[in-house]
Amino acid sequence: MAKLYFHYSTMNAGKSTVLLQAAHNYRERGMETYLLTAQLDTRAGEGRIASRIGIGSAADTFAPGEDLFGKIAKRLAAGPVACVFIDESQFLEDAQVWQLARAVDDLGVPVMAYGLRVDFRGRLFPGSATLLALADEMREVRTICHCGKKATMVVRKDASGAVLRDGAQVQIGGNETYVSLCRRHWRKAVGDPDMG
Ligand SMILES: [Zn+2]
Repeated sequence: MAKLYFHYSTMNAGKSTVLLQAAHNYRERGMETYLLTAQLDTRAGEGRIASRIGIGSAADTFAPGEDLFGKIAKRLAAGPVACVFIDESQFLEDAQVWQLARAVDDLGVPVMAYGLRVDFRGRLFPGSATLLALADEMREVRTICHCGKKATMVVRKDASGAVLRDGAQVQIGGNETYVSLCRRHWRKAVGDPDMG
């Protein structure tokens, strides 16, 4: 039975690498996959999923307001697809996650969504919130803090290395960098006044 999967992580955990490896495993067995990524992600150029270790693959894109049920149905009409892969799924809209769930239920195609759980302020991304609510299965793509504990949070730093506490949830094309930390070191980095 087809399922909706949510693979969540913090920044720099290698979720795109995990996605590309999983898609490769299907193709190696002669099965077609359908890859989608957020249109606003221009790191690798439009329509491409790239990982920091140097592997990449062409991908279709999704944009706000787009009907993803219709998009997947159209792709399936063109030929069989063993699995749909979605990168940067934190940028999905609430309605689009429901459309993915409907594709799983009504079209019988598995959908594997990969995305960040929380932003640099420690708040859920909208797409991730709905995926956490609707996914049939969830898996964490893990990475570690500099202290060796599991990193679950992320800080945004400006060009000078100062930690930013506010700003837009999505920042495109800036000089910001992101560092993944455990919750305790994240609280320290953002200046939690309750830290001892
Ligand atoms: Zn730590």
